[in-house]
Amino acid sequence: GLKHIHAIAPYVGGRPISEVAREYGLDEKKIVKLASNENPLGMPKSAKDAMLKAAGDLGRYPDSNGFELKNVLAASLGVPTDWITLGNGSNDILELAARAVAQAGDEVFFSKHAFAVYPLATQAIGAKAVEVAATESYGHDLPAMLTAIKAAGDKAKLAFIANPNNPTGSYLSAKEIEDFLTAAPSHVVIVLDEAYNEYLTPEQRYDALAWVGRFPNMILSRSFSKAYGLAGLRIGYGVAQPHLTDLLNRIRQPFNVNSLAQAAAIAAFQDKAFLQEGFELNRAGYLQLTKAFEQLNLVYLPSAGNFVLVKVGDDDQAGARINLELLKRGIIVRPVGNYGLPQWLRISIGLPQENAAFIEALKAILA
Ligand code: PMP
Repeated sequence: GLKHIHAIAPYVGGRPISEVAREYGLDEKKIVKLASNENPLGMPKSAKDAMLKAAGDLGRYPDSNGFELKNVLAASLGVPTDWITLGNGSNDILELAARAVAQAGDEVFFSKHAFAVYPLATQAIGAKAVEVAATESYGHDLPAMLTAIKAAGDKAKLAFIANPNNPTGSYLSAKEIEDFLTAAPSHVVIVLDEAYNEYLTPEQRYDALAWVGRFPNMILSRSFSKAYGLAGLRIGYGVAQPHLTDLLNRIRQPFNVNSLAQAAAIAAFQDKAFLQEGFELNRAGYLQLTKAFEQLNLVYLPSAGNFVLVKVGDDDQAGARINLELLKRGIIVRPVGNYGLPQWLRISIGLPQENAAFIEALKAILA
């Protein structure tokens, strides 16, 4: 039957500005949205120009194979184009991976407090979602995941890991990931979700592409929604060896990535100045927010992404309660009760004045 579909709890995104403005009787222009890990700089001008140019040709279908974008990506990443899959957001890549390698009765692994789409993609195909306990610091426990995978034997088909993870911001070292990839049974496909990869500091960086070359069971997933500022266009990509890429390609929608997104992504990917500006803004915003949390004696988790998880109370209503007070003041953040973190709120790092508005509202609420 379709019980597995009815059992799914739908994905809940950040509340849209217009909806919050109407519900709380606020001026849209005064609302600060720090709820969806978007780029506070918005879309790069280079990408907007490229997109507007492509808009002249919207009577035609997009290039179904993404020839130009794949060539730009392949040249930069140092892989052949037939290792790349374009997705309607990197979300598409995650779902394609699940549909390509698992079915009802199979088992799919991910960490507690990991990105919400992993269980969704798993449940949608009727597979069994196996949530592995997190570490004490809310990160992925890869040795525990390995044990769970091995215990499942042939039923284990897929594991999702995120580095950094959303919503915890937790970071895995290169050694932890490499040990996991090395020890994982080769029939289990491992998705390394790097939606926030561009926010890693130079010291945190590692060569994930080299792993794709070494491990035939690995899919690397990346996004244009965060550091590249194209969330509204929906585009991401996967990198895997050709036998896996071929499977993803067989089941994707024929024109899964629209023309505007492809054109914008080509420009954004090459706009190194925009990436650098966003990176620096993010580091400064992280310091601004975490300094304020320290002053307010609030516990937060060290984050390697463009967001921070902060504990706003000790009872299980705290996250929802403070979130409501913030909404009334025109500040949209993300409650994470659905991630098993009801005492916490996730704050996307914004522009300095947006972060300041949030801090001021939080201070007033907690006073
Ligand atoms: N992975 C992670 C860890 C995410 O946080 C997100 C966005 N919330 C995604 C993937 C999907 O992003 P997109 O589909 O916009 O590329």
